[in-house]
Amino acid sequence: MLGGQWLDGRSTRARRVRLERAGDDRLRIVDLADGAETFWPMAEIEVGARLGATPRVLRRAGHGQIECPDSPELAQWFRRPAGGIEAVADWLERRRLAILGAAAAAALFAFAFLRLGVPWAAERIAVAMPVAVEAEVSRQAVTLLERGHLAPSRLPAARRSALRRRFGQLVQGEPRQADMRLHFARAPGLGANALALPDGRIYLTDELVELAADDDEILAVLAHEAGHHVHRHGMRQAIESSSVLLVVGLAFGDVSGSSLAVALPTVLLTSGYSRGHEREADAYALGLLGRRGISPRAFGRIMRRLAGDDAAPAGAVGYLSTHPPTVERIEAAERAGRGPGE
Ligand SMILES: [Zn+2]
Repeated sequence: MLGGQWLDGRSTRARRVRLERAGDDRLRIVDLADGAETFWPMAEIEVGARLGATPRVLRRAGHGQIECPDSPELAQWFRRPAGGIEAVADWLERRRLAILGAAAAAALFAFAFLRLGVPWAAERIAVAMPVAVEAEVSRQAVTLLERGHLAPSRLPAARRSALRRRFGQLVQGEPRQADMRLHFARAPGLGANALALPDGRIYLTDELVELAADDDEILAVLAHEAGHHVHRHGMRQAIESSSVLLVVGLAFGDVSGSSLAVALPTVLLTSGYSRGHEREADAYALGLLGRRGISPRAFGRIMRRLAGDDAAPAGAVGYLSTHPPTVERIEAAERAGRGPGE
């Protein structure tokens, strides 16, 4: 015996009913209000699939539907060959190879989600990220950097303001230019380097200023960092890496919002940019230098110098060690410097 609610499709009122098996082929429906009995042939009843904790639904064409809680009795009454999705599930259960195939498909889907879905979402989240979050993440990242890597710059004040002036002219009128501020620091542990933080702070090390042969080379590096800021690479990369942590954390049941908030600045500094982001920042830099009348070859020159710079330690934190001066990047800069017809 099983209780349920009968919506007959004619009245909007649900009738409280009791369901019983009547012989082999009929279902007895007893109206609890007046004791009236109705009989449905079992063969004409369509049983809805089990979906978690939702009520089961019995339908008979022209007679409406009865909702009742899931019960083992239903399985007994309506034992019939499985169809549709149930048949597929049944088929899968019987075939180990198919199960392995399904597992592989699920893994592939998860990989595609992390590889394509997460970057897609990260870009949109980064754009919508409140300025306050960018500022807080950047502040914490700088605190981490200052603890281990950055010391006050020893460049003369006049040199610093001259470079700030040229940087200001370089990015004048560029997207997100209002946030960009140039900072100087000495970084014995990092060597010649530069980095952009999500809030628009761009750090340039004394070591890089000293390595460069002229200001155009420094501006080439700053144009690349400006590209990271314009395209929000820092925040996007941090969100992507955190999302991977989040997905892994969910899989192992170990995740909380607070641990994620703590992780973000660290992730920002340790994850580094993807090659795609580097290419995008390079392309932006070469375009910007060209528009400002600075030869993109300056970019190739500083890259070569960085490649030959023994002072740059191999074990620098990821964010700062991810500007490998590759042959590919140098060649791209030299191609851009040649220009059409040259
Ligand atoms: Zn970069």
